[in-house]
Amino acid sequence: MKKHILLTWLAVLSFSLQAQQIMIVKTKDNTQNEFNVNSIRKITFRSSLEIPGDSTVSLSCPDEHHPHSIDLGLPSGTKWACCNVDALTPDEYGGYYAWGETEEKINYDWDSYKYGRDWDDCDYIGDDIAGTEYDVATVKWGDPWRIPSSEMFQELMDNCTCEWTSLNDVNGYLFTGSNGGRIFLPAAGGCLYDEFLLDGKDGNYWASTLDPENSSQAFFLIFRSPFVQLQYSPLFLGLSVRAVCP
Ligand SMILES: [Zn+2]
Repeated sequence: MKKHILLTWLAVLSFSLQAQQIMIVKTKDNTQNEFNVNSIRKITFRSSLEIPGDSTVSLSCPDEHHPHSIDLGLPSGTKWACCNVDALTPDEYGGYYAWGETEEKINYDWDSYKYGRDWDDCDYIGDDIAGTEYDVATVKWGDPWRIPSSEMFQELMDNCTCEWTSLNDVNGYLFTGSNGGRIFLPAAGGCLYDEFLLDGKDGNYWASTLDPENSSQAFFLIFRSPFVQLQYSPLFLGLSVRAVCP
């Protein structure tokens, strides 16, 4: 047994005494990095705009097979969908959902709302419904797609330029990340009672985050040129959903 251990130690020692070939990379600012050549698995040269590792992630839609996950160069690494839930293209409005519901309706009011009956009578389905059975993005598109949190919307606004524009004659906001990645959010309006309101003027997109001060409302992103901001909406309103991959 001892002999066996000794032989093993000698094998390790002889391996470590072998001459190692070192690769030295010196950059223009005179920083120098050394690599043991034996430890290198692969050397890849790529453009800084290409996304390594995941061929399903793009800076803009690469083809007609939506939804795509778009890299906007955000600090958290969150990727945003190229189109709304139920939309077949980035300029389509898609579906309208009350918060926590996963099916569209004719009427959007307290009477028809599945998880509440009035301003002071709402069921608790979570402070954050992302990725749950109440998340229409997860239910319709599967994991890891989910409704963005209020923090994710804040990150989007803080790290992208946004421009009121139109895509195929549909008004909306174009968000462009520091890496050149781009998503277009159509001004799809919203649904109140049995009315479909303000399309072409307003965009209203649910966040997964409940208002901590008032359980009858949740965060949503609202835009109407020239402002884009986070506000609260009563849970029963029918709003758009733009999914993310965390
Ligand atoms: Zn796409």
